[in-house]
Amino acid sequence: MSSIEQKHNLHQHGPLHSVEETKSIILQSVDTLTPEKKPLIESLGQVLSKDIKSPIDIPPFPNSSVDGYAVIHSDVISASKTTPVKLKVSHRVFAGETADFQLESGHSARIMTGAPVPWNTSAIIPFELTNENMLNLSQNARENYNIEIHDSPSINDNIRPQGEDVKKNTKILTRGTILKPADIGLCASIGLDFIEVFRRPKVAILSTGNELLHPGEKFSPGKIFDSNSYSLYSSIIQAGGIPLILGIAQDSMESLEEKLQEAFPSDMLITSAGVSKGDYDIVKDFLSKNGKIKLWSVNMKPGKPLAFGSLKRNGQSPLPHIGLPGNPVSSLVAFHQFVRPAIYKMMGRKTMDIPIIKAVLENKIENTDGRRVYARVLVSNKNGEFHARLSGSQASNVLSSMSVANGLAICPENIPAKNPGEVIDVQMLDWNELEMDQSLQDSH
Ligand code: AMP
Ligand code: MG
Repeated sequence: MSSIEQKHNLHQHGPLHSVEETKSIILQSVDTLTPEKKPLIESLGQVLSKDIKSPIDIPPFPNSSVDGYAVIHSDVISASKTTPVKLKVSHRVFAGETADFQLESGHSARIMTGAPVPWNTSAIIPFELTNENMLNLSQNARENYNIEIHDSPSINDNIRPQGEDVKKNTKILTRGTILKPADIGLCASIGLDFIEVFRRPKVAILSTGNELLHPGEKFSPGKIFDSNSYSLYSSIIQAGGIPLILGIAQDSMESLEEKLQEAFPSDMLITSAGVSKGDYDIVKDFLSKNGKIKLWSVNMKPGKPLAFGSLKRNGQSPLPHIGLPGNPVSSLVAFHQFVRPAIYKMMGRKTMDIPIIKAVLENKIENTDGRRVYARVLVSNKNGEFHARLSGSQASNVLSSMSVANGLAICPENIPAKNPGEVIDVQMLDWNELEMDQSLQDSH
């Protein structure tokens, strides 16, 4: 036991929790946040807290799907290229106008795509099926001329009926939908400019360690730059949360205490480092002194030293706190397993898992101590089959191999190795079809 652990009477490890237990303990401790009214334009990726019904029909009125001629069907039944039907063009209708007039037999209206159809219209003949291009109409001679129809349409051809897309008073989106661009467009199409969604969680990030410098600072001996604040900040944005950087705390209770004051208005606190066995790993101590530790060891590699608990705050419910490991890859891998699902739950998502694919493994993954291994791999698509190869050193401090990787291959607990040729589960962190296409890579 370290001196600090002895002082605070802590054991070096808590009981080892499985990844699933850990995830479920964390998810039980966070709640979906309250709904908020949000400008529709800013709601991408947020989750609807209410069903949406349309107050109107879409299209709101019957309109033309082509540039052409509105006709009465019975006028043009016999029309063909060899026996054209001649009609008088007595109106024209542009998109954005109204068409409150009756089409008379023997007449037609020149009509543009999206323009409302005149009463009595029973088909629209596209320009291509008329002698339009022979007429050489000047801009202002586009009314009161004759047109030849070269084809007989089916009834209602090229008329988009009112309510074809969305019927008035019907549900167009369900509570729980994660809004994607088409959903947002759909809401705009029924005239909404605000929408009710679950609030995005504010997640505070604190790096801890006497060795840390801010990127941009002058390098000095014995120090390293704080990369975790940066990778975690970006990961929180990617997951849909709102990150708040608290900076760097020294390895002292006073420094932690001071920095953490700013975390209290957040929905969750993420710290990195200070949760393993070293002499200055005091995040755990701080957590046990100022709140409650629920667990501090997970049966995974990388990412075993991980603390989870909650900090007391005045007049408010306790602040959930995930103490991530300090090593840059461990903290990111643990982020994906635990923080990302917690963010998803808080923002109202029902599915919290990372997509998993099956891939053929190309190298050996060793599992020396029976933990669950998350191996950094680069997945590529070779002739329609996914292949995963290790993206470099698997040491937990080597961030460059995480940078090359697009997924985490899983070697289950108590399986000593996964061998080349075996099919393995891979959590996909990034999905870029073009980068994954091996044939494109080879041609560079
Ligand atoms: P610790 O958990 O404090 O023992 O840290 C484990 C390892 O992670 C040590 O090598 C630390 O220097 C390193 N580390 C801790 N915090 C960071 C950080 N914010 N950025 C990069 N490396 C870090
Ligand atoms: Mg440390």
